[in-house]
Amino acid sequence: MTMSTNLGWPSDPEPAAEHRRLGWLGRALAAVSRETPSSEVVRPRPSATTAVPEAPGARPDPVESAHDAFTGLTPSPPPTVAAAVAQPIGAPSVATAAPVDKGVDNDVVESPSERETEAVPLGDNAVDNWQHESLAGANDADREALAAAIPTAGEDTPLAMELAENARRRIQLTGRNFPKPATPRVLTVANQKGGVGKTTTTVNIAAALAQSGLQVLVIDLDPQGNASTALGIDHHAEVPSIYDVLVDGTPLLDVVQPCPTVADLHCAPATIDLAGAEIELVSLVARESRLQKAITAAITTGHSFDYILIDCPPSLGLLTVNAMVAASEVFIPIQCEYYALEGLSQLLKNIELIKHHLNPSLHVSTILLTMYDGRTRLSAQVAEEVREHFPQEVLRTSVPRSVRVSEAPSFGETVMTYDPASSGALAYLAAAGEIADRGAAPVG
Ligand code: ADP
Ligand code: MG
Repeated sequence: MTMSTNLGWPSDPEPAAEHRRLGWLGRALAAVSRETPSSEVVRPRPSATTAVPEAPGARPDPVESAHDAFTGLTPSPPPTVAAAVAQPIGAPSVATAAPVDKGVDNDVVESPSERETEAVPLGDNAVDNWQHESLAGANDADREALAAAIPTAGEDTPLAMELAENARRRIQLTGRNFPKPATPRVLTVANQKGGVGKTTTTVNIAAALAQSGLQVLVIDLDPQGNASTALGIDHHAEVPSIYDVLVDGTPLLDVVQPCPTVADLHCAPATIDLAGAEIELVSLVARESRLQKAITAAITTGHSFDYILIDCPPSLGLLTVNAMVAASEVFIPIQCEYYALEGLSQLLKNIELIKHHLNPSLHVSTILLTMYDGRTRLSAQVAEEVREHFPQEVLRTSVPRSVRVSEAPSFGETVMTYDPASSGALAYLAAAGEIADRGAAPVG
């Protein structure tokens, strides 16, 4: 018996008839309809010296695979449409640009991360370069016109729908300047459950805001120091940290470090010392408001931050209380899973208590659904339930479960720089845009 050679990858990635009519999206779909081994999806960056273990339980994300396969352009409008619509904002003719779908047609699959580590000369991927540069100067009307030109995919093709949504987000948001708030906004990112995406949300929203023209400070208030790690900030035991601020009264700006990968983003790191702070704080004067005093002093005497995001530990102890006294807004990430709402009532009760006794301005301003898996009914049900309970607070954008998001911290980066065109990064950019728009200073 002869083995069928069709068991391996088909050598010809021609789209099927039903995909062909979708044009550019169809080509991407054809590429992912091949069985993709997970090793093809999770690749270490070439610049990394150590191999990165695949995230436990990571499954190939079809949208990210499609995005990789579609790498010649990454999610962006079809060239003909882009050319037609984009001419007014000074685009070169697409006819002169490099082939946009080389990743599919030549079967050369290269990860976006690989492209990012080397400077890509203009001409190698002229459309992509042009798009990034021209989008930076584009006004909102240009962006809307470009985004409106993206073909809409039917509900029966969720993958195509998500690719189109990513392309739309990229056009609408990349390089856009978000509005500044009238006064610095201090948001406490809290949820006493662990592993719901507090740290991931803090660092990525902070990076997205900073990339969009705002001055941002992240305060790492979790003794594990995950936010400091994700931002590439040194936080070994001797580094001046938020512990010194809380316990010894060191000025906040003395411990702040700039993020090496994102301009205008700063971080007050957490070291392992912070693990003892919960107990040490108990005997100190005004133990609940020490962070608030430090932030107020920093705002009035030093750097003017537009946003301060505080990453809380997964508990409702004195560290979290300090964060809630220092902020006027609570930002709750909720993971789209079965136990999502369990424990939330306890959190809300604590917020009410702090509001009543210590900080009258405290309120839940923002809820973000994280790790949304469009392939499960459970995610959709949880999202629906949360939106029903908190119609005003929940952001329209939810963050998909994404391998790129979970890989980024091991490179000391946020996904916003690790893979800015991935669906996770674009979702965080969209969520940050919503937050900024909600808190914009009134015009005039
Ligand atoms: P918390 O700070 O609430 O404990 P984390 O932000 O550390 O939660 O997230 C817990 C785990 O989930 C981390 O390993 C993180 O990489 C992963 N994770 C968070 N958001 C996503 C996402 N959108 N897709 C995939 N993995 C995610
Ligand atoms: Mg955390």
